[in-house]
Amino acid sequence: MKNPPSTAWYALRRSLPTWSFEKNLRELVKLLPEYRIDEIIVVVDTEDFTHGQPPLDWLRAYQTGLFRIAEAMKKIGVRYSLNPWITVGHCDRGRDDRGTLPGLTTMVGDNGVECTSCACPMDPVWRGHAKEVWTLYGQTRPAVIWVEDDIRTFNHEPIQFGCFCERHMARFSRAVGRPVAREELLAALMQPGRPHEWRGAWLSMQRGVMNETVNFLARTVHAVSPESCLGLMSSGPRQHVLDGRDWRAFGEAMGDGRPIYSRPPMDNYVEGPLRGFYYSHDSIKLTRHCLPTAIDQTEVENIPFTRYAKSATFTFLEMAISFAYGCQGVTMNIYDHSGVPMADEPWYGRTFAEKKPFLNALAAAAQKPGRYRGVQLLHHDRSAESKHAAPGARYGSLAEDGAATMEILETHGLATTYDAEGVIATSGQTLRAFSDEQLRTMLAGGLLLDARAALVLFERGFGDQIGLTSIQPPRCVDEIEPLGAEEFFHPDFGGAEKTFMTLTLPWLMCRPSLSAIEPGPRARVVSRMVNPDAQGRYPGMVVFENSLGGRVAVHALELSTAFGTAFCHPHRRRQLMGVLTWLARGPLPVSVDGGVYPLAFRKDCGETSLLGLFNLTLDAWPHAEFTLAEQRRVVGMKVLKQDGRWAKSKALSSRKRAGSLTVSYDAPVTFDEPLFVEVTWDK
Ligand SMILES: [Zn+2]
Repeated sequence: MKNPPSTAWYALRRSLPTWSFEKNLRELVKLLPEYRIDEIIVVVDTEDFTHGQPPLDWLRAYQTGLFRIAEAMKKIGVRYSLNPWITVGHCDRGRDDRGTLPGLTTMVGDNGVECTSCACPMDPVWRGHAKEVWTLYGQTRPAVIWVEDDIRTFNHEPIQFGCFCERHMARFSRAVGRPVAREELLAALMQPGRPHEWRGAWLSMQRGVMNETVNFLARTVHAVSPESCLGLMSSGPRQHVLDGRDWRAFGEAMGDGRPIYSRPPMDNYVEGPLRGFYYSHDSIKLTRHCLPTAIDQTEVENIPFTRYAKSATFTFLEMAISFAYGCQGVTMNIYDHSGVPMADEPWYGRTFAEKKPFLNALAAAAQKPGRYRGVQLLHHDRSAESKHAAPGARYGSLAEDGAATMEILETHGLATTYDAEGVIATSGQTLRAFSDEQLRTMLAGGLLLDARAALVLFERGFGDQIGLTSIQPPRCVDEIEPLGAEEFFHPDFGGAEKTFMTLTLPWLMCRPSLSAIEPGPRARVVSRMVNPDAQGRYPGMVVFENSLGGRVAVHALELSTAFGTAFCHPHRRRQLMGVLTWLARGPLPVSVDGGVYPLAFRKDCGETSLLGLFNLTLDAWPHAEFTLAEQRRVVGMKVLKQDGRWAKSKALSSRKRAGSLTVSYDAPVTFDEPLFVEVTWDK
């Protein structure tokens, strides 16, 4: 039995251990077509049963099995791909490869700890071995061969950051023209305040090493299987600034002339609150922003591989989010790697098959060329190079800021995007990576800043363009004076006297950091921090129209210390809506109302737009309303039914206002049945 090709492409990552190989292979042949799986990605030498650096004799024997899987898959119309579980290695876990690979240089951490199995990517012994290993993989002619996210400079258990081995230190010493020891380098990398010039040199070297390494892997595979594509598992661009990663160059090096696949992480390995999906969807958008031409197949994974980790419903939602945000496929790491039959967890397979028509229809609509709209967020590959370190900070603190900005907006129904839009929102130090000219362009549009981002602009000499005459570095509110709450009082922005929001942020038992700011004469204060007698003491949110013709809003809280459950509130939604529509001088590209914790989007695809809403609470929304910045007239609307048909619905209606359009859905939206509406516009 062969299935028709899918738009919602399912790629299953599956291990066939030597002791259950025959049984597992028979089951794949039987169940993959039933589960509507399009591709098998065989995971080799995996998880608990990894040997570390794969022994060549073991792999030569296993290669015979890989040929058999490839052959069997061909017969049932399922594509064959490969996922070696390690590149340089994720973790040692007691494995020591220095005996089997004499002379192996292993990774050395920032603290001097030496790995026993995870290899330095520059090491010629590792490269010699990897060349043989990846040749054996390549000879089986996989459609895609995945490179794991161990191709990075962090999280190689037992070390956190690396590699600071002698080989790396020697190369760095040559680059800067004198011998440098690890301790001296680290002191320079983490110099508080303005970055030492070695930070840029170090990250540039790491970037070069990683580009060489992935290109070496690609050329090794292409020497025996020119048609294979390389796939990249990654850990999120905000983390990969720690590698100094230049995504475009990295992608080109890895592609070696072929298209590449990209597997953005979705996290949520264990089912938790549905709000975990804010991270997942952002990971898709941000990774795509960095690798715009890659073929995206998200990572839908549960650990440890049973419904104790994740329900089938949660798994379905993760798949739906992947397709709603335009991915071509999902890679599913759902079943364990020790040979347990898939049939032992039949709920997953049943869900995959049952949801295929729905996901196919969703994927077909979301994969149309177009762009996702919203408030623009920022990323810069060089964020770690320009970030100012705090005294005593660890290397990991150089990761890029900004996740909190995405969450304050998305949780309150304001969709975000990494594509160019009229209003930009940013927090933390990301702006340091941008040039003065780029900053001036941003200041001429609409710009929402937290305290830290405002401080960066102030230090760069843009104080009078953001409406501040002074700003103190953020510090814990309790070190300033006893403060009770933020009062959102300004009626022009939707506030009212005695409208309070807690300062017990981000949640119970925590307190945020606040900057004491002094607004200039033409700036307007929208909210203020009040003392226990409800007297205004410090500005909270301040808005300003500058001489570049732009509009700026500064929130005096440092978002990375303030954003959490307690930050979210109906008052907050009104505040954000009031201030952001003022910044945009009209309606935002898309906002949604009708309940709490939406995950909403709008994708414009020429004559149609796709609107989507995931309800990330267990309570049903009684109805939903999308507000769109739009001049065109609606000529048709359809909703995606559970059986995968696009159909007209009496629950749908639209209403035109000045410069905006409201699309209403007057029926419940539940967490397990996300809402998708396709709007057709008048030409
Ligand atoms: Zn090294």
